[in-house]
Amino acid sequence: MNAAIIAIGGELVNGHTLDTNSQWIATHLENLGFNVQLHINIADREEDIVNAVRYAMRHCRVLVLSGGLGPTQDDVTKLALCRVWGCTMEPREAYRLHLEQLYIKRNKPVPENLGIQYTFPAIARLISNELGTAPGLYIGQDDHHLIALPGVPFEMKHIWVREVEPLLQEHFPAQKLLRHHFEVALVGEVYIEERLTALRMQYPDLYFSYLPFYGSVDFSITATRPGFDAVVFNGVVRDIRRLLEPYIYSESSESIAAAVIRLLQKHTLSIGCAESCSGGFIGHQLTNVPGASEVYLGSLNTYSISAKINILGVPADLISVHTATSREVAEVMAQRAHTVFGSDIGISTTGYIETSEEQPVAFVHTAITNGRELEHHLITLPYDRDANKQYLANRLLFHTYAFIRKYAIAGGAGF
Ligand code: AMP
Ligand code: MG
Repeated sequence: MNAAIIAIGGELVNGHTLDTNSQWIATHLENLGFNVQLHINIADREEDIVNAVRYAMRHCRVLVLSGGLGPTQDDVTKLALCRVWGCTMEPREAYRLHLEQLYIKRNKPVPENLGIQYTFPAIARLISNELGTAPGLYIGQDDHHLIALPGVPFEMKHIWVREVEPLLQEHFPAQKLLRHHFEVALVGEVYIEERLTALRMQYPDLYFSYLPFYGSVDFSITATRPGFDAVVFNGVVRDIRRLLEPYIYSESSESIAAAVIRLLQKHTLSIGCAESCSGGFIGHQLTNVPGASEVYLGSLNTYSISAKINILGVPADLISVHTATSREVAEVMAQRAHTVFGSDIGISTTGYIETSEEQPVAFVHTAITNGRELEHHLITLPYDRDANKQYLANRLLFHTYAFIRKYAIAGGAGF
């Protein structure tokens, strides 16, 4: 079933506010099995809203709108909807009473003119909004389903979860599509696509989707029609697992940091980091995961040479012989992290996070150790400073994930 999203608001179009609603709604529609075909961003102009809704209705049966439902002059979504369906605005007495109660409960004076706030397109059903004064609207007409929600992101999300999902499931009970996610690292989407070409040709009813994100790819397959045979689908999932095996770190849409934390928890192992050019970002990524405290002991952010020597305990000679951004220093940093934190695993970063005139290539030496085995990975960074940090973290955390699997799952030495 095709769906369209229309985000309404002058601030979205002129760039003052980032339209986060559309992205959120799209992923949630997709989870319910809808095929999101269209995003439209428009300002609060009645004419534009009318045209956008008419255009979207030609392509999609489900339309989700956000924004422009409030009581001020610039909120014209309700008027536009009346024009699309040729209906009138109609006051709803019950909603007026509800609003009055709301103001009283919030200890605020009831505005003299509540008029527009309890007036809605005659054909619309109200969708309750527990967090604000403007309800959502549902219009089901001529085989189209339109849902209009307030633009305030937390109100929109609350209404979505409480009201909209059940409503959509009630109208489209049998359309949950089969879908499976793979989180893949170290190889790009082109490599994945190459490996899976034969499978893709064999199953034209399966949609292969690639979402690259700094060194990892969220890859998913979706059956494009309801009723696709689940046994066949699961067989394809197994084939993909076999073809991409060394590069898959998760099959549940989680971050690489979350996958590392989960793996450490599973094997009751702990980790400590010695970071230089990543500036604590690896520790930040790991501590973003709930439950990190069970396995993450800490990160020493030893950026300067003196911090590497005096705090981490890297021998000064080693740095003068090899430089602070060398493989040798990265390896000793990982060993020192392992010792200083008393963790099962120590990891490290040192290098150049960004190119400069003297340093035309950005690269980072990283190391991972469990006290016995020691792995080194040289990671070349292709983006700007910020993105390079994310890319570096993803790569090193994936190597760490693979290291833990290799030595802990195989029951290898050192664990
Ligand atoms: P509205 O319901 O249009 O009056 O919007 C109320 C508030 O929500 C404003 O602060 C908007 O900037 C914000 N907002 C509206 N639409 C969006 C959107 N698509 N994404 C993020 N924020 C939004
Ligand atoms: Mg607005």
